[in-house]
Amino acid sequence: MSRAFEGVSGSEDDDRMMTGDSRRRPPLSADAPNGRKGPLVVVIEDEPALSESVAYALEMEGFTVKTTSDGLDGTAIVRRHRPALVLLDLMLPGLSGLDVCRQIRRDSDVPIIMLTARDSEADKVAGLELGADDYVTKPFSMRELVARVRSQVRRSSRSGQYADTNEVLRGANITLDLDAHEVIVDGGVVDLRPKEFELLEALMRRSNRLSTRENLIDEVWGSSYFGDTKTLDVHIKRLRHKLEADPSNPVQIVTIRGLGYKFLDEPSS
Ligand code: CA
Repeated sequence: MSRAFEGVSGSEDDDRMMTGDSRRRPPLSADAPNGRKGPLVVVIEDEPALSESVAYALEMEGFTVKTTSDGLDGTAIVRRHRPALVLLDLMLPGLSGLDVCRQIRRDSDVPIIMLTARDSEADKVAGLELGADDYVTKPFSMRELVARVRSQVRRSSRSGQYADTNEVLRGANITLDLDAHEVIVDGGVVDLRPKEFELLEALMRRSNRLSTRENLIDEVWGSSYFGDTKTLDVHIKRLRHKLEADPSNPVQIVTIRGLGYKFLDEPSS
């Protein structure tokens, strides 16, 4: 992680950094050379300076970017344009970031990365529980942000490509159908978000064996993941709520204290 880019909150250093950058590299047009636009990222952020530098950094990496300072407007843009990813500031005037997250999740599985303040631990957890996939804490480095955006976009498009594998994993009362991208528990389809699906797949591929925290994070979020491991725990918790008869007493996805998790073919009793 480069410290050189840190302090995105609008210091003079950042302006110099951005200016220097633009001199070194000619600005890309919104259209890629082949005429196709790069993946769309919607940035919902009410600080104009931050919003602009984020948009600039992402456009330099080939993304198409739409920015808005308003949460309600943001949810409308997401519905209309079906972006590849949403960057969501949690501290917005009007409709709060958490409300925006909730609204987006009503009809979209688009990856959401929250932009949060350092001291808003409760908001981060609430956001992850509402279905956000990741967060970065302000002030963040542009390099880190771009890496996280890339990783989420890559992984969500990759999970869409699982459609060709025609593979089915079975364990206990759970069937994970990679072809249909469906999880069936006791004959009924359970609705999993993309990251939850990937996490369950990773666990089931190693059923009855330990999946270490490190391996799970690598497999589901990518080796370039910089976030803290709370994200993994929140996703495990969500999976348990969707799959376990008694989520507070899991018998299917069990915790191996200090090491990771294990998916059991035969639920422990
Ligand atoms: Ca804000």
